[in-house]
Amino acid sequence: MSAVKRLADWDGDRLERLADEYGTPLYVMDHDRVRANYERFAAAFDFAHVMYAAKANAGRAVLRTVHEASADIECAAAGELHRALAAGVAAGDLQYTAVNPPDADLEYAVDLWGDAPELTVTAGAETTLDRLADRGFDGRLALRVNPGIGTGHHEKVATGNDAKFGLPYGDVERVAREARDRFDLVGLHAHVGSGVLADDLEDHRRALARVADLAARVGNLEFLDLGGGFGVPYRPDEPPLDLEAAARMVREVTADVDATVALEPGRYIVADAGALLARVNTVKETPETRVVGVDAGLTDLVRPAMFDAYHHVRNVTGVDRDPVPCSVGGPLCTSADVFCTDRPVPRPAIGDLLAVGTVGAYGIDLASQFHSQPRPAEVALEGDDERVTRRRETFEDLTRLEAEAPGVE
Ligand SMILES: *Cc1c(COP(=O)(O)O)cnc(C)c1O
Repeated sequence: MSAVKRLADWDGDRLERLADEYGTPLYVMDHDRVRANYERFAAAFDFAHVMYAAKANAGRAVLRTVHEASADIECAAAGELHRALAAGVAAGDLQYTAVNPPDADLEYAVDLWGDAPELTVTAGAETTLDRLADRGFDGRLALRVNPGIGTGHHEKVATGNDAKFGLPYGDVERVAREARDRFDLVGLHAHVGSGVLADDLEDHRRALARVADLAARVGNLEFLDLGGGFGVPYRPDEPPLDLEAAARMVREVTADVDATVALEPGRYIVADAGALLARVNTVKETPETRVVGVDAGLTDLVRPAMFDAYHHVRNVTGVDRDPVPCSVGGPLCTSADVFCTDRPVPRPAIGDLLAVGTVGAYGIDLASQFHSQPRPAEVALEGDDERVTRRRETFEDLTRLEAEAPGVE
């Protein structure tokens, strides 16, 4: 199985048929690919305990597939615990990372721990430890460490030097000593960035080495959890992460740590397993560019608007046409609603089907109803089988949670 599934690798005839049958915008998730990604990752890191970080794509169908492939699930919110349980994951296969946890989230996690004492809770603030103890929690605890160095593809996802995440590096030894009186301290945890590729690997190494140093000093730990952050190529010419090199790096930095290494890849497992299908409804030549309007927008995929993320765009219908510079955007009345600007795309025409690539991570989970857009449907592919894993929202779904307007039948 190759290291990356490119947008060009998707079967165009099948995408056309899916779009006809289920409508657009449509998320397509290749579950064979999800499974293969997990298996490839777990094989490269065969010395580590590999969990899947649910945040990247917490649809129950995806959670089931990764869990069936034997991944435990890392949840960074009580809602993710809820969804994992609803997907049939046993509580003992979950780990909970509390980031500024609301009371209700802590209570949910502590309740769950009451039934499943194997649950590990990760906390990154001393006040969170107090709040856990106040609720009677004295179970398996990991401390989240802020290594003071962040890595990754965008400052908004580099968490390693953001004071929001984890205990200040210099406090950890003391907090760990004190925590042993109240909890079963089993691990240290750090998640330092996201989208790490070859260029960032050295920064990543330095951040992880600092955490590993600390783990060696704290001692007597069952595991050292180094989080996720493994990147995928979004551009067609970008090489994939060398997993063997990444595994070697992790092995080297943890060589002196007498604890099991744990990892929490999210993006790496699901990103290239997803494509977003959109139909062209507008083509407009302007003095500046060719404007191509499609029925998917930033409410379906916000990464370009939010992170300046590159996502490749393929003209599924017109693969062989000559590329022309296009600005492809959606139906929202904001200039942020563009997937690409002045990028060569085989000359789009009205009615063409376009596919946006590498959207399986942080795609549908960041979809919103902004601008009163119903969220898209999602179809799962497995071999020749396909099934709808999320129905398309309707206009009724837009008003469903609101109080009714007085006097309107
Ligand atoms: C988001 C997150 C991950 C996964 O990050 P990726 O970049 O998707 O691999 C792992 N652990 C924690 C605690 C996270 O918040």
